[in-house]
Formats: sequence, C-alpha cells, structure tokens
Amino acid sequence: MAKCDACNAIVTDRRGERGHDALVETGREKFQPLGQAGIVTTSYTCSICGTKWHYENDKNDPVAGWHEVAG
Ligand SMILES: [Zn+2]
Repeated sequence: MAKCDACNAIVTDRRGERGHDALVETGREKFQPLGQAGIVTTSYTCSICGTKWHYENDKNDPVAGWHEVAG
C-alpha cells in the first residue's frame, strides 16, 4: 500500500524527529548493551495507510531514529 502524506513526511535515520498523530504504538522493546545507555525501540502502525514503523532512540547509532518496517 502507498504511504500516506503524513508518513511520507517522516524524516528517517535521524534521532529526535517526531512521527505523526495517526501513528498507533503497538509495542516497545528495551535493550541494554553492557555499559551503555538503554536503547528503546518503539513499534508503530499508521492508522491511515498501515505502514509499520520502528523508532530507535540509540544515542550511539548515527542512523537511529525512524525506520520503515518492510512487509
Ligand atoms: Zn501513513
């Protein structure tokens, strides 16, 4: 399915960007690498177009942030 305008406007691969109001949170996973700050990956599904997204808050990953989930 084609992405809606709101999903197309999401800036990927950059931390601190926000999603949009039609994203519905579907889950949250916490991962704690040894000696590092915890990483939280939050899963969302768009209630308009059904696109699935992950948002990672990993401070050590230069391309953390919004990622579209394939499938
Ligand atoms: Zn959408």
